[in-house]
Amino acid sequence: MNEIQVLDKTFVPFLSAEDIQSKIESLAVTINKDYQNKKPLFVAILNGSFMFAADLFKSVTVDAEICFIKLASYKGTQSTGHVITAIGLDSNITGRDIIVVEDIIDTGKTLHTFLPQIINQQPSSVKIATLLHKPEATVYDLHIDYCCFSIPNKFVVGYGLDYDGFGRNTKAIYQLKS
Ligand code: 5GP
Ligand code: MG
Repeated sequence: MNEIQVLDKTFVPFLSAEDIQSKIESLAVTINKDYQNKKPLFVAILNGSFMFAADLFKSVTVDAEICFIKLASYKGTQSTGHVITAIGLDSNITGRDIIVVEDIIDTGKTLHTFLPQIINQQPSSVKIATLLHKPEATVYDLHIDYCCFSIPNKFVVGYGLDYDGFGRNTKAIYQLKS
């Protein structure tokens, strides 16, 4: 794999398409076991999680639904600290088994702010599935149920994750070159 250029920055290969797909397959196996005889509702957070949500959902074999919501807390490579809900949750989640699907958990603020909106509607359970987690950056208290990769506190792009809107359209994940 080669370096890629996204706008003014250079990124180096970090997680291969094969590694990503194989972790997602294993996660789906776990979810299929954990949700036997249940009908989970996946709530995927746009935009970053769209590829992860699609690949994970394809490998889920229990009866399941998926919906998408949009939140944002990032501008460029730095968190703005604000969490904005752009597209709300319109499905009825009362009594449902919810799996929130995130691309990456960084400070944890996005989910920490958003989860009460879910819990308020009295689902029967809520679990968090994230493709990536940056443990060194996480300052909000969150229980992450399913995580594909724990990664260092460096900015990454690709496989749905962007740098100022660009860089999402790759099968691999790349790390900002230092
Ligand atoms: P948190 O609220 O946990 O600090 O941030 C979560 C959101 O910030 C993620 O869903 C993602 O959109 C964005 N984010 C955090 N770290 C990165 C990163 O390394 N690369 C990209 N592209 N987005 C990130
Ligand atoms: Mg996101």
